[in-house]
Amino acid sequence: MNPSHEQTEESPSLWKLIQDRLRRKVNAYGYDSFLSQLRLLEDTGSHLVIGYPSDLCIEWVEVNYADVIRESALDVLQGARQLSFVADGAPLPLPSPAAKASASGKPETNKRKASKPTRTSNSFINSRLNENYRFDNFIVGSNNEFACAAAQAVARSSECLYSPLMIHGASGMGKTHLLHAIGNAIKAQNDSCQVLYITSEAFTNEYIEAISRSKRGDSLSSFRKKYRKVDVLLIDDVQFLAGKNKTQEEFFHTFNTLLDSGKRIVLSSDCPACEITGVEPRLASRFEAGLTVSVQAPCLETRTAILHRKRAEWKCNISDEIVSWIAEHISKNVRRLEGALMRVAMMASFSQSSPSLDSVRMLLKEELREEAARPITIDDIQRRVADEFDIRVADMTGRRRTAHVARSRQIAMYLSRKLTGRSLQDIGAAFGGRDHGTVIHAARTIEQKMVADDTIRERIARVESMLA
Ligand code: ADP
Ligand code: MG
Repeated sequence: MNPSHEQTEESPSLWKLIQDRLRRKVNAYGYDSFLSQLRLLEDTGSHLVIGYPSDLCIEWVEVNYADVIRESALDVLQGARQLSFVADGAPLPLPSPAAKASASGKPETNKRKASKPTRTSNSFINSRLNENYRFDNFIVGSNNEFACAAAQAVARSSECLYSPLMIHGASGMGKTHLLHAIGNAIKAQNDSCQVLYITSEAFTNEYIEAISRSKRGDSLSSFRKKYRKVDVLLIDDVQFLAGKNKTQEEFFHTFNTLLDSGKRIVLSSDCPACEITGVEPRLASRFEAGLTVSVQAPCLETRTAILHRKRAEWKCNISDEIVSWIAEHISKNVRRLEGALMRVAMMASFSQSSPSLDSVRMLLKEELREEAARPITIDDIQRRVADEFDIRVADMTGRRRTAHVARSRQIAMYLSRKLTGRSLQDIGAAFGGRDHGTVIHAARTIEQKMVADDTIRERIARVESMLA
C-alpha cells in the first residue's frame, strides 16, 4: 500500500488496518482503555501525527505504546514513520525537515520538552532509546533489586561483564524499562557510545525487509554492518524469535560477532531462555551463557512507591487513601497499576477534589476483573471455538481435515498462542500432538485471514470476549 498523504477521514481503511494490528498486539484492556481512542490526523509519508482526546493521557500513551504503534504502522505501511502525538483537535506544526531526517527514531510529543537532536551522520546509529525510562525513576524492591543491580553494573562497566545479561519476567514487570535505563545511563556517560535498543520483532521485520531488498540486488551487508558495529545491543522480548529460523540464524551471527569483540548485550524475555521453545538450542544456550536475572511482581510497598512517584510526576489530585487502595487491589502487573492511576488521574482532572473511593471502585471495574481473572486455558479456547464454529471439541485434537474443521482448529491454535502464554510445543501437544511449526503456521494464517476478512475477525473477537 502506498503511503497516504491525506487526512484520516479520507483514508479510514489505512488507519483501521493499523488499529487491527494494534488490537492483536496489546491486551484487550490496553486497547479498549487507551488505544481505541487514537486517531490518525495526518500521514505525510515520513511522519504520522496521532491524535488523542486527553492531554494528560497522551504522554502515558506515548511512553507505553509508541513502540507498538510504530511497529503496527510498519506492518501496514511501506517504510518507517516518525510519530508525533498531539491532543486531539489541536495538532501542532510538524517538525522541521531537519528533525524529519531522523524518521523512525524515538517518538516526539508536542507540548513537551524537545528531544535532543538526533545525530544523522552515518557513523552514528539511532539508539531508539526512550528517555522516560531511567534508573532514577525505577523503583527498586525485593522483586527486582538483583535485576536492577545487574543492569546498573552493565551500564557502569565498559567491559562485557556478563555475556550476555538476560532479564526475564512476566509482562509489565519493568524489563523494557530496565533495558532503556541501561542505554540511557550509558549514553549519559558517553554520548558517542553506539547503543541500540530494538525489539526482536523489529529486528525480524528489518531483516525481512533487508532480504527483500537483497532479492532486488542490494546486499545484506548494510543490515549486517549496522548491527555489528554497535557497542551495546539491548534486545527486547527475544521470545518473539521463536519459530523464525532464518532470523535466528542471522541473530546468532550478530550475537557472536558482538560478543567476540567484547561488546555488551542485554536481552529480555517473558520466560527463562531454556523455556523459549522454537528457538534453536545453540542460540538458547548463548542466551543463558552469561547472567540470568528475573523481575517478579512487586510487593505492596513497591507498588505504593511506584504510585507515589507517578502521582508526583503527573501532579494529580489523588488522595493517599486512593493510592493505597489502588496499590492494594492491583498487584500483578505494573503497567496495569500505572494505567489504573492514569484513569483515576483523568477523572480527577475534571474536578477540584480527589475522587471518592466509590467512584474509583466503579471506574476501575475492568482492572479489578482482570486482576481476579483466572488464566485462560487451551481447553477453554478449544471449547469456545468448537461452540462458535459448530464442530465437536474432539475435532480439535483429531485428524479430520475438512476445510471447516482445519480452519477452526487453526483459530483455536491462534487464540491459544495469543491468550495463554503457553509454549508452542505445549500448544501443539494439546492439539493432538502437532508440532510447533504447525502452530506457527496456524497463527500466521489466521492473522492474515483476519486482516482480509471482517466476518472471521468479528467471530474471533466474539470468542475472545467470551473467554475474558
Ligand atoms: P515489561 O517490559 O516487563 O512488560 P515495562 O518495562 O514495559 O514492562 O513496564 C511497564 C510499565 O511499568 C512501564 O511504564 C514502566 O515504567 C513501569 N514500571 C515497571 N516496573 C517499574 C518500577 N520498578 N518502577 C517504576 N516503574 C516501573
Ligand atoms: Mg517489555
